[in-house]
Amino acid sequence: MTEYPPSRAYRTRVSRIEALSPHFTRMTLSAPDLVHFGTGGLDQRIKILVPTPTAGRPDESLFELPMSEWYPAWRMLPPEERNPMRTYTVRAIRPEAAEIDLDFVLHGTEGPASAWATTAAVGDELVVIGPDSRSTVNGGGIEWRPGEARSVLLAGDETAVPAIGAILETLDESFTGSAYLEVPDAADIADIRSRSAVSVNWLVRGEREHGAALDAAVREWGAREIVPQRPAEAVPEGEEMLWEVPDAVGHSFRFAWLAGESGVITGLRRHLVRDLGMDRRAIAFMGYWKRGKAEIN
Ligand SMILES: Cc1cc2nc3c(=O)[nH]c(=O)nc-3n(C[C@H](O)[C@H](O)[C@H](O)COP(=O)(O)OP(=O)(O)OC[C@H]3O[C@@H](n4cnc5c(N)ncnc54)[C@H](O)[C@@H]3O)c2cc1C
Repeated sequence: MTEYPPSRAYRTRVSRIEALSPHFTRMTLSAPDLVHFGTGGLDQRIKILVPTPTAGRPDESLFELPMSEWYPAWRMLPPEERNPMRTYTVRAIRPEAAEIDLDFVLHGTEGPASAWATTAAVGDELVVIGPDSRSTVNGGGIEWRPGEARSVLLAGDETAVPAIGAILETLDESFTGSAYLEVPDAADIADIRSRSAVSVNWLVRGEREHGAALDAAVREWGAREIVPQRPAEAVPEGEEMLWEVPDAVGHSFRFAWLAGESGVITGLRRHLVRDLGMDRRAIAFMGYWKRGKAEIN
């Protein structure tokens, strides 16, 4: 029996581009072998290898070697020969059509991924590293794990909109709670459907600092929803951790999922744990990007 690796590279082509709003572009990617793309959904993250003028196309070794051998070799390449690797969320998976959708935030042309998404055309190639549904090993990359919690908080900036959208669309009627999504512009507000009773709250940044609206909304939610449970838990000031996801939540009443700019998300998580006494094991918090820093792999 063939053993399939949990994660592998797919050589896809852009088959549709939809300008969703001033800051979001949806790329539909197609490739025959996407029929085998893992269908975990939710906040499934994948990697893309961004085409650049100097790096050209990723070479065939990517499709021949196990990731564990390809990755160290890729890291050894000189920067100009190495396609930058970036992390995105699969917004939709349609194995029957051999397609996936990625929603790119357009944040200018300084970052290679945003720059690529700004100028990409139908027919362009994009290599995606993602799960293989035929593997018997879980490829990971899904952090939405509420366990038995049915009262949930989702909060994120525009980079988390694809994940929050995909999560909300899969939640059934048993879920309740609040989702807060901060976007740059009123025109970026999207239509998200959910069978759940989770209320969807869009926050328009406008001229405010990145994250200010999200921070205020989550603090208001906390003041309304959480009676501090126990004395403040010590979380060191200036903690460097940018990512922590619980293994299992068990019987916890609440589950919080926070993603976006690292400084904003770290501050919110600290507030929930330290000031409001929320169980840190009930909070998945993920720095999706860091102000002033390119993604490092
Ligand atoms: C699990 C996960 C899922 C993600 N899902 C998505 C997704 O579905 N869609 C999406 O668009 N992004 C998503 N992101 C965020 C995305 O990976 C980063 O925004 C990434 O830095 C973009 O790469 P880049 O090449 O454009 O910019 P980089 O080269 O990484 O950064 C260049 C500069 O741009 C700044 N920058 C990076 N992102 C932003 C931004 N959004 N707004 C303003 N400035 C920015 C950096 O601080 C840096 O100064 C996700 C990240 C993670 C970890």
